[in-house]
Amino acid sequence: MIILSVTGPTIAEALRQVRSSARFAHLVEFRLDLIEGSDLAPLLRSTRKPRIATCRPSWEGGGFRGSESERIDILRSASALGVEYCDLELRAGATVLQESSARRSETKLIVSRHYFGKERPRAGSVYAELSSSGADVIKLAYVADDVAEGILAFEFLRRAARDRRKAIGIAMGAAGEPTRILYRKFGGWATYGAPEEGSAAAPGQVLCSHLRNLYRAHELNRSTRVFGVVGNPVEHSKGIFLHNPVFRALGKNAVYCRFPVKDLGSFFARCMPYLSGCSVTLPFKEKVARYLDSLDRTARGVGAVNTIVRKGTRLIGTNTDAPAALDAIERILKVSGRQVLVLGAGGAARALAYEAKRRAASVYVANRSPKKAARLSKELGVGCVGLDTLTPEKFDIIANTTSVGMYPNTEAPPILTGDFRGKVVFDAVYNPPVTRFLRRARESGARIVPGTEMYLNQAALQDRIFTGAMPGRVMMRRLLRKAGRTG
Ligand code: NAP
Repeated sequence: MIILSVTGPTIAEALRQVRSSARFAHLVEFRLDLIEGSDLAPLLRSTRKPRIATCRPSWEGGGFRGSESERIDILRSASALGVEYCDLELRAGATVLQESSARRSETKLIVSRHYFGKERPRAGSVYAELSSSGADVIKLAYVADDVAEGILAFEFLRRAARDRRKAIGIAMGAAGEPTRILYRKFGGWATYGAPEEGSAAAPGQVLCSHLRNLYRAHELNRSTRVFGVVGNPVEHSKGIFLHNPVFRALGKNAVYCRFPVKDLGSFFARCMPYLSGCSVTLPFKEKVARYLDSLDRTARGVGAVNTIVRKGTRLIGTNTDAPAALDAIERILKVSGRQVLVLGAGGAARALAYEAKRRAASVYVANRSPKKAARLSKELGVGCVGLDTLTPEKFDIIANTTSVGMYPNTEAPPILTGDFRGKVVFDAVYNPPVTRFLRRARESGARIVPGTEMYLNQAALQDRIFTGAMPGRVMMRRLLRKAGRTG
């Protein structure tokens, strides 16, 4: 079940949130500690969905600062108005819980425990305490600093599922995002979603509409295959907007989440066992190799991994950036026998230079830090030229693989200017889709290949690796355009 957390802060705002987002949820929680106003009746009657009344005190991370008796009175009024659930904190004390448990008629009790800051739950003992509290539903929430800490919530949910208990287990903060999406995989009862950006009741809460339509969180189950992007930062990654709709279109029981990883070792030890595969992004593309059982030829050749897939018990690393970039360029011009200039000497440069050489092009690299270009040229057996003395004339294909021109520095001077007439010019930067470098090149007569083409190629290749089925280009293009509007 998906629970919409209505936060107000005014009754009018709260009513608006119900109108805009209750359709994505199965239950609606009213955060009475965050909504100003004393007349609860119109609010609580604003939806036909089952309702939860919560009035979280400040001592449990909420907004209510009045006395305990005032708080309990508010919850009793909500109960008298017929709400289906009341949320009470374990730390409200045995007397309050027993009394609430005894008094309730139709209203069910969610007993919750929240941990903030550096405090972490001792899973076994908090589970035992919550279980013996008389709750109909038990809830554990804590802040996670690293994605691997989310495992605690999953273990809590699994234990509750074994005991046939309804449970909610959430790691708060960006690192806890997967716990808000994957609860059904671990037997959890429900998750909370925000009505809109900026109105989340707790840090890291995912939009209700995304839980329902993007992740299909309520439809996931124990057999769902979990994929995601592993990197840091990943909050602006567009992958969730591509892979999830593709899985849906292909009829796959699979989901794609963001994993903002701090410690790669803990991630591989604690989280990776639950994943069927993942995309890898900065800063881990080179570092992940040591955690894998093998690398395919492309990943070995490039020296970087952007895709991991599980085959039985083995984790295999590959690289879809390399074929993706060259497939994008070769839609305009075959590279075999051509002179290709790669600007940059980072991960994207490595992928592009390796694959262009493999496809029989004469490849040269040029970079701001010449030593890095020299090292890359030696490792890959390609040419090296100085950035300062460079002119475009000699080359058929010019590829920018530096991050120059990338959002937010979109108006930074292009890394190379000059006469690009008759050339094919590629830019790996995909945000914005047409960079200043590409605009200039087009104006001087070049045929251009935007980084979005590489991006959608690499995502489509990943989907083939993850699911065995290749999504169509038209669908990928449409999804990427939509992701641009969403992100
Ligand atoms: P990286 O490994 O960090 O390499 C960055 C490169 O950019 C280095 O060569 C660096 O030069 C150069 N650079 C950065 N700032 C510069 C500046 N102000 N002037 C000149 N050179 C500068 O990053 P990466 O993974 O290769 O990614 C590079 C770009 O490709 C990013 O924009 C990324 O989003 C994009 N990319 C796109 C796709 C796609 O699917 N379209 C896939 C992968 C990457 P130094 O060595 O001198 O620092």
